[in-house]
Formats: sequence, structure tokens, C-alpha cells
Amino acid sequence: MKTISVSVVTPDGPVYESNVEMVSTKAQSGDLGILPGHIPLVAPLKIGVVRLKNGGNTDFVAVSGGILEVRPDKVTILAQSAEQSSEIDAERALRAKERAEQRLRESQQANVDFQRAELALQRAINRLSIVEKR
Ligand code: ATP
Repeated sequence: MKTISVSVVTPDGPVYESNVEMVSTKAQSGDLGILPGHIPLVAPLKIGVVRLKNGGNTDFVAVSGGILEVRPDKVTILAQSAEQSSEIDAERALRAKERAEQRLRESQQANVDFQRAELALQRAINRLSIVEKR
């Protein structure tokens, strides 16, 4: 099978580098599946899971949004934060989820930033969705 080189990069450095047969993720415009030789593309991503398929193996990386760039031989994902499955601290994500839910319950109070809490909740749920797969 043909493969394509993939890098997931954050401000703290590279999180994932590999050659894979297929990259799947959620762009803001909908689900994306990238195979080797895909046309060049730049797309903003949602908070979501990047699935990296190679042979019988699939790796999962949690990304907090970002930008996907596709060139014929290379996919680059630039994200504010990203974690491979093995790096996710489940307890931390659970605490973040509970904190965000509490803030959303208090969101009637004017001093709670609803959108910020909603995004924190989405990041936590996204991380937990990968923890469930390992
Ligand atoms: P928290 O409130 O727990 O910090 P967050 O969603 O606000 O969660 P981010 O701002 O997205 O965190 O990320 C800050 C840094 O912490 C990034 O380097 C990110 O990879 C890391 N990080 C956040 N949550 C986890 C987690 N559950 N497991 C491992 N690393 C995490």
C-alpha cells in the first residue's frame, strides 16, 4: 500500500510523526479522509480525533482544533494542543470535564465565559473518547 508522511505539531513540538495509509479527521466543513496523492488542501479543524491507519493498526491523536495542510506527499496538522493516546491523562481529562460542566451549570451568572467552558468541555470529552479505545 502507498503511504503518506504525517506530522502533528504543536507549539511545544512534534506530537506524532509517521507514514500512514490514511488520515481521517473532522474539518470544520465536515469529515475528511486523506489518502496518498490527495489534492493540496488547507482546512481548519474542529476539536476532534485524528485517526491514522497503517496496515491493521490505527493510531489516535486528540487535537484541539488547528489547521490541516495536505500536499501530495505530506500531511501536516498544526494544533494548539494534541496528544497521542498513550499520553492522555484520563484523570486530568475527567477533572477538566467536571470543571467545565460545573461552569456551564453556573453560566447564568454573568461572569462565566460560556464559550470558553463549552470548548474546555469538548476538549475533555474528545480526550476521554480516545481513552475509551485503548
Ligand atoms: P486542563 O484544564 O486539564 O489543562 P485543557 O483542555 O484546558 O485541560 P489545553 O489548554 O488543551 O488543556 O492543553 C494544555 C497542555 O496540557 C497541552 O500541552 C496539552 O497537550 C496538555 N493536556 C491537557 N489535558 C491533558 C490530558 N488529559 N492528558 C495529557 N495532556 C493534557
